[in-house]
Amino acid sequence: MPPKNADEPENSAETPRRSFPRGGPTAAEKRALRTQLMSMRAKILRSSKDLADEALKGSGQDFSVDHMADHGSDNQEQEVTLSLLEGEQEMLDAIELAIRRIDGAEVPPYGICTACAAMDAWPEGSSAPWIPTGRLQVLPYASLCVAHQEEQEEVEA
Ligand SMILES: [Zn+2]
Repeated sequence: MPPKNADEPENSAETPRRSFPRGGPTAAEKRALRTQLMSMRAKILRSSKDLADEALKGSGQDFSVDHMADHGSDNQEQEVTLSLLEGEQEMLDAIELAIRRIDGAEVPPYGICTACAAMDAWPEGSSAPWIPTGRLQVLPYASLCVAHQEEQEEVEA
């Protein structure tokens, strides 16, 4: 019987819990942002339901994304609706992730740029790794700072 491997790490070293410099939104700002996120979420859920109802009316069939994906080509309007729903789903996921991060259920903490969080060091004098609170107030579900957002958009373009 081979001896128990003493080299085996007890904890995976791949995802260390990092400590970040002080910064980010205050507790009161986070509460306000959470409220903002919750109302954005409610609004999307309402409008998605309206879109789904609309699609259902048009097709006279049970609404299902799978069904529409299979038969989408014969109805352009349904395709538009479907892609709108997909866009809303993405935003909804981002909003729900942000809420979980505010609640401390996800790392890194809310307000940290997830790309900056992966860096070893941050430029002196910048707000990094924190996303400036002003940006969060405009885009409360943002998970990237402006520089990393632009970088990602270049990759995707
Ligand atoms: Zn960043």
